[in-house]
Amino acid sequence: MRFSLFKKSGPKATDPVCHMKVDMEKPPGGSHEHEGQTYYFCGPGCKRAFEKEPQAYLSGEKKVDM
Ligand SMILES: [Zn+2]
Repeated sequence: MRFSLFKKSGPKATDPVCHMKVDMEKPPGGSHEHEGQTYYFCGPGCKRAFEKEPQAYLSGEKKVDM
């Protein structure tokens, strides 16, 4: 018998595009390395947006409203 009442929660990272908390062990949108830093994404859409213009999101110039 298996009990999985307590879900193990891994370390969380913040999606740089939409600022959602993302599980670093299983990021739904995958991860991307930029200037030695690894970023994690809530979905492939955010990853694509970040890959296109990483600076715009890191500087806070661009924001996505969910
Ligand atoms: Zn996102």
